[in-house]
Amino acid sequence: MRDLEFDREHIWHPYTSATNPLPTYLVKRASGVRIELEDGRELIEGMSSWWACVHGYNHPRLNEAIENQIKDMSHIMFGGLTHKPAIELGKLLLTLLPTDFQKIFYADSGSVSVEVSMKMAIQYWYSKQRPDKNNFVTVRSGYHGDTWNAMSVCDPQTGMHSIFGSALPIRYFAKKPNTKEDISSLREIIEKENDNIAAFIIEPIVQGAGGMNFYDKEYLEEAVKLCRENEVLVIFDEIATGFGRTGRLFAFEHINLLPDILCIGKALTGGYMTMSAVITTNNIAEQISNNYPYAFMHGPTFMANPLACTVAKASIELLLSYNWKTRVEEIEKQLNDELSIAREFEPVQEVRVMGAIGVIEMKKDVDMAWIQRRFVEEGVWVRPFGRLVYIMPAFIITKEELRILTSALIRVVSEIK
Ligand SMILES: *Cc1c(COP(=O)(O)O)cnc(C)c1O
Repeated sequence: MRDLEFDREHIWHPYTSATNPLPTYLVKRASGVRIELEDGRELIEGMSSWWACVHGYNHPRLNEAIENQIKDMSHIMFGGLTHKPAIELGKLLLTLLPTDFQKIFYADSGSVSVEVSMKMAIQYWYSKQRPDKNNFVTVRSGYHGDTWNAMSVCDPQTGMHSIFGSALPIRYFAKKPNTKEDISSLREIIEKENDNIAAFIIEPIVQGAGGMNFYDKEYLEEAVKLCRENEVLVIFDEIATGFGRTGRLFAFEHINLLPDILCIGKALTGGYMTMSAVITTNNIAEQISNNYPYAFMHGPTFMANPLACTVAKASIELLLSYNWKTRVEEIEKQLNDELSIAREFEPVQEVRVMGAIGVIEMKKDVDMAWIQRRFVEEGVWVRPFGRLVYIMPAFIITKEELRILTSALIRVVSEIK
């Protein structure tokens, strides 16, 4: 197939060799939770295109929203100009969030929003004449994106800090969170180093690509309290967990405390376009804006892209229009029922489920080329990494479709020796 040859020869894919890449599959179209390959095969989608595509592909309402917006304008610069899509999305976002959150910065991808949130924290302390508070503390096993500073707060091992070495700023890493007791490692760092720390960044409740780790909400509560007591700002990275994935609209709703800065992305646009937002309080925004240089110093070219804002608004409205919470609960129950048998397999370390996320953690790394091929043969799209075989399907998946996914998962995992 000539297209695939070109792709193999010239196009870089994520986290694989450019000279001897893992196989890729040519997609013709996708609709609902079904991916149609160019060779006619059909796959049931288990990954929501990396957390994003919560309503499935090719949704008529999202398509319509974009089509209508294109006729007005696809893009316009945000410096000195504004538009209805940005304003209406902003209004809708504020209705979903506690009233503490009042200021929205639109950015163009998850990683960029993490960079923006970190810059906000630095600029906040700079404007308070505390320029030494310029470092960050986080926990092991996290993932916050692939750009420079986002990478610096990813897990040092899975984030491959060894490769980027001394070029990467050195952050403070507390122990991977599990239970409330693990807080002592974070406490030690914060109490000792708070004069140097601008903010604590963490994915609330579920750590995604850094290890698919679920941890106790008591840990998160303790961590926020600790930061408050020690003048450390709190950044919640909800890029993976936002918009219902963990069973709450945002994962911070599992606790009664709020961060100072919130990053959202991925499912924000229903997986249609790249877009993210950093949302913060009046307190942070006023501190930055009422002091030199009287502005927050960041401004992406595609900030608040009108197509992305439009589809984000449509996607959130769609989410609120059906009973997403019940759907996620049903998916959670079915994942629990149908994946738990894998606990009995020798090579399986652990099976865990939360909301619409199901994880089978193996004892050893899986053979990617083999397992990917096997999943495609089984008619499903599942993309493991390392020891983690996991799914986070679109919320619109039917019981029957989800059963196809879970049985393929069980069958393929049972073949691993
Ligand atoms: C995916 C992800 C990011 C990075 O988002 P991109 O859009 O890929 O840049 C950051 N944080 C978390 C928790 C993520 O899951």
